[in-house]
Amino acid sequence: MFKHGLVFLMAAASGVVADVSANPVRSSPTRPATVIDQPKPVPAEKEETKAAAPVARKSAVKYVEIAEVSALHGLELSWPEPQRRLELTNAEHRIEIEVGSRNMRVDGLRVFLGDPARLVQGKAQVSQVDAERLFMGLLAPVAMGKGRELKVVAIDPGHGGPDTGTENKALGLREKIFALDVSLRLKRVLEAKGYRVVMTRETDIDVGKGARAIIANQAGADVFVSVHFNSVLNDTKTRGAEVFTFAPQFQRSTNAWGPGQPDDTEALPAPVNRFDALSVACAHAIHGALLKSLKAEDRGQKVGHWAVLRALNCPGVLIEAGFLSNEAEGKLIATPEYRRQIAEAIAEGLVAYGAKVAGAEKK
Ligand SMILES: [Zn+2]
Repeated sequence: MFKHGLVFLMAAASGVVADVSANPVRSSPTRPATVIDQPKPVPAEKEETKAAAPVARKSAVKYVEIAEVSALHGLELSWPEPQRRLELTNAEHRIEIEVGSRNMRVDGLRVFLGDPARLVQGKAQVSQVDAERLFMGLLAPVAMGKGRELKVVAIDPGHGGPDTGTENKALGLREKIFALDVSLRLKRVLEAKGYRVVMTRETDIDVGKGARAIIANQAGADVFVSVHFNSVLNDTKTRGAEVFTFAPQFQRSTNAWGPGQPDDTEALPAPVNRFDALSVACAHAIHGALLKSLKAEDRGQKVGHWAVLRALNCPGVLIEAGFLSNEAEGKLIATPEYRRQIAEAIAEGLVAYGAKVAGAEKK
């Protein structure tokens, strides 16, 4: 897989399978503007560890043919709806892609492409960044050459101290409390399975966003998991779980595609971008375990410029396990049983990710 992956990436980089468009099609947003617990546009974000201000890059996005991606991963390409919807399948996987959209389903899970899929002269295409980062992460993460055995897990309970995170004031629910509770449960589950765990906080204190990555880096963490809960303004219906990785270089945040949202694309790579494919693999495993266990609404696997992930020296994932602003889901999250389920599902996802990484290393 590594050899073929390299050939493909080299071909893609040289433009053999790529062409260039300055006008990517924009697909419809999924209420990005109103969700509170989301990364702010980059200029407003306070990031302690950022060395230089990112430069917005709105220039050409390179595309590669989906047939190439499909062949690389041993998938068969078919068109259930000609010109509109295609599928990539083999014995293990089924990937559904819509032309002109960032919507994708991977083995039943909702995963957002970083750039919309498109059709050019009858050939379906995805962006080169999606081919190299997202598809490699979903289908062959260790082909990127950075796989390592999972031994040390950094757990980051979101917010803390004066930073309460999101709140449901009517129900008296505060994100920082539940994030810490789930994280401490996750710690116990992982330690019982033999992993070493490092926590960015274990009490109700505030820890700087950049400091959280530094704690993980200094502990030699093999993966970083940040635990959060969501809220949305003036909307009690939105509910469900979503899982984020840091946005790849040259891609904007999933939630920056909405109307009026600034393009927060960064031209320079962040430290954590070295692990994009592994982060995607980890997020996908946790996403699957969470939805299977919680039966929650699937809000998708997304990317964002999260400050807590930026400086990591290992793969990183940020989990939004549910909406405190939804009364039914908020009440569920308020129960210890539901939080136990969340913690155990995250652990299950991490174990599955670890097995995938270690298993592939031995080959
Ligand atoms: Zn949060």
